Amino acid sequence: MKRGFLGGTFNPPHMGHIHAARAAAEQLGLDELYLIPTGEPPHKDLPEDTATAEQRLTMTRLAAAGIPNAEVLDLEVRRKGPSYSVLTARELLEKDPEGELWLLCGTDMFLTLDRWYRADWLLKNLHIAAYPRRAGEVPDLEEKAAVLRMRWGARVELIRLEPMDVSSTDVREALKRGGGSEMVGDEIYAYILRNRLYGVRPEPEALWRLTVPLLEKKRIPHVQGCREEAKRLALRWGADSIEAERAAILHDAAKKMPAEEQLRLCAAYGIIPGIGADTDLEGADGTALPPEEFAARYPKVLHAFSGAAMAWGMFGVSTAVRDAIMWHTTGKRGMTLLEKIIWLADYIEPTRTMSGVEKVRKRAYEDLDSALRLAMQKSLEHVTERNGTPHPASLEALDDLKEKERKK
Ligand code: ATP
Repeated sequence: MKRGFLGGTFNPPHMGHIHAARAAAEQLGLDELYLIPTGEPPHKDLPEDTATAEQRLTMTRLAAAGIPNAEVLDLEVRRKGPSYSVLTARELLEKDPEGELWLLCGTDMFLTLDRWYRADWLLKNLHIAAYPRRAGEVPDLEEKAAVLRMRWGARVELIRLEPMDVSSTDVREALKRGGGSEMVGDEIYAYILRNRLYGVRPEPEALWRLTVPLLEKKRIPHVQGCREEAKRLALRWGADSIEAERAAILHDAAKKMPAEEQLRLCAAYGIIPGIGADTDLEGADGTALPPEEFAARYPKVLHAFSGAAMAWGMFGVSTAVRDAIMWHTTGKRGMTLLEKIIWLADYIEPTRTMSGVEKVRKRAYEDLDSALRLAMQKSLEHVTERNGTPHPASLEALDDLKEKERKK
């Protein structure tokens, strides 16, 4: 059998790893390729905000799903002490002593290979496949390959590929700045969001891609409209426009789910329907309706709470965004600027056509509170006309706005 292995910190794995592993597996004609996350890396210190070994393993499994014949092995993570490749290679060779075992490595690793622990053994017993990480590195690889062949009799092959210049360090930096999804792909990005790794700040465009499949088809233009409107309002009123986009994109994300599932989300991520985040509240239990009763009495409100739970627990948003989603249907007393913006964006976004919306639309850019008061009044009338029960938070929100208007 012809097998290969690629070790790395995979902190996190990225498109560069996947691209190179695919090319190597194909050009060498490997029957099996192992991706092996290191336990304690001998060549580098892990950064402070690093993922745990289990998390690196899980992300590497997601990466391997995109590479034919690839599998992730946890032997280095399980082993105590530094992750020397010689120990790993010996273990792999034991399983198939007659077969060919290839060590895959990018330029940085390949150029230092003859200084690794037990390099003599590695170069004698393994086949080595090296590939460039950046443009212009091939001459260095060729030179090193010649030296290794001559001095050690090493069996080295260079893999031809269009280099993809990305490193895990680049990814971690991009994630902190609110980007990075395209360097890791959506599945790993979603995992990073869910686990709030590397100080990630959710990227609106990635949230959009991840949210669209959760929406009913007919709701997509509404959510898109809400995203644009929220951004405009945020720019008009001096709020953080990226936070506004995040909240708008996610505000209806749980709406399509059955009520039981929505309640499960709330329970899993500490949201009490009708009340808010359990961490913010003391004695909330005394005032909250039992969740099932809440769902039955306010079926049109539940998705705001479950959406907040989902945004918080699965998409790594801030508490400000979580709360803007939580109150986007009812409103509440003492709304923040972002909460007001999301409530109004939902009401006036360009696909909305209900009577009187034009007036609110215009006012939203002149006097935010007055527009909100007007729209909330209309929306409560609408609920009553349809024999729905207005949620107490809506009544309080309206009272609060009226009071503020009187004091002006
Ligand atoms: P960091 O930035 O944290 O140092 P890294 O991006 O170098 O991480 P590792 O997991 O340490 O990633 O790398 C594992 C292996 O993958 C090494 O052999 C490395 O040379 C190779 N590799 C990493 N990035 C690329 C890339 N963009 N193209 C090809 N090979 C790569």
